[in-house]
Amino acid sequence: MGAVTISDVRKIYNKTEVLKGVSVDIRDGEFLVLVGPSGCGKSTLLRMIAGLEEISSGEIAIGEQVINDLAPKDRDIAMVFQSYALYPHMTVEENMAFALKLKGMSRDEQHQRIVRAADILGLTPYLERYPKELSGGQRQRVAMGRAMVRNPAVFLFDEPLSNLDAKLRVAMRSEIKQNHARLKTTTVYVTHDQIEAMTMADRIVVMHNGQVEQVGTPLELYDRPANLFVAGFIGSPAMNMLSGRLTPDGFIAVDGTRVAIGPEAADIGERDVVLGIRPEHFALSANGHDAEILAVEPTGAETQVVMRFAGSEIMIALRERITEKPGATLAISALPGCLHLFDAASGLRLN
Ligand code: ADP
Repeated sequence: MGAVTISDVRKIYNKTEVLKGVSVDIRDGEFLVLVGPSGCGKSTLLRMIAGLEEISSGEIAIGEQVINDLAPKDRDIAMVFQSYALYPHMTVEENMAFALKLKGMSRDEQHQRIVRAADILGLTPYLERYPKELSGGQRQRVAMGRAMVRNPAVFLFDEPLSNLDAKLRVAMRSEIKQNHARLKTTTVYVTHDQIEAMTMADRIVVMHNGQVEQVGTPLELYDRPANLFVAGFIGSPAMNMLSGRLTPDGFIAVDGTRVAIGPEAADIGERDVVLGIRPEHFALSANGHDAEILAVEPTGAETQVVMRFAGSEIMIALRERITEKPGATLAISALPGCLHLFDAASGLRLN
């Protein structure tokens, strides 16, 4: 059983609490991504699961077994690091065999496992090479192969793609995902890159300042962020945030611009709010608000336009191509039903 149960885990380094009571239930076979800005505590949490970092308080269990006091080698896990950590003086095959030898596995069984992993990872032609004779992507595959041959209950990945160039990162992302679909091994994957999190995860844990902000599937987080932090962190280009007041007439921005809000806001009551609107939820509309164009950024598939709207600078994403230049105005409106309302004081979602 590869379920991982993290219960109220804390980490204190010289009196500073860097994990402030984290609880997450990771399901057997799930691909779970821990994401958050640098310093939020995600690597510390991963290293605690691995046994490389002491748990100050709380409990971590793999299956039914609490592992707090279990040595790393006795936990049924395999970890893949950003640095790959391959042995330079060993061939690909020897690197993959290393942990199996230590376990005292028979040569036949070692060989079978290595052949299978090499086949899945496309490493069969490279088994006799040394790490320095491989590309970055191939080294990353060897690091994964070394984890795979151990056949662990849980894979742990710590920013494994950060050292690769953008194109290879996208390719490896998809490879890791396909491997997971094949092996179905419980996976905990740490990244600071929200796109990596969105594209790879079954579920995402968004962390910030040593705490969990929200847990959900990628689209749950995208469609219904629980608070302003998650709303701003998930999505690229980022959600636009407008400050103002929710009234019976709709949302009134600080400059007096009124944005109609659907019936879902009826129960919320009048108060100061932040209105969140994703860039793709604006549309050109003859009856809309005139907004000044500040910059036009065509990506090919869509046109991103930076505009002044409701007293703020916003980014909208249009399917259309735009011939207007900065300084001109476009009439735009926000699509009702796609709006996010947050309490201005607490930052918590209201609708
Ligand atoms: P992330 O992986 O999200 O970037 P980390 O888990 O590496 O964050 O670090 C979380 C916090 O703990 C950071 O503020 C970091 O400075 C601090 N920290 C990490 N390791 C140590 C350590 N060995 N001693 C003291 N503070 C540490």
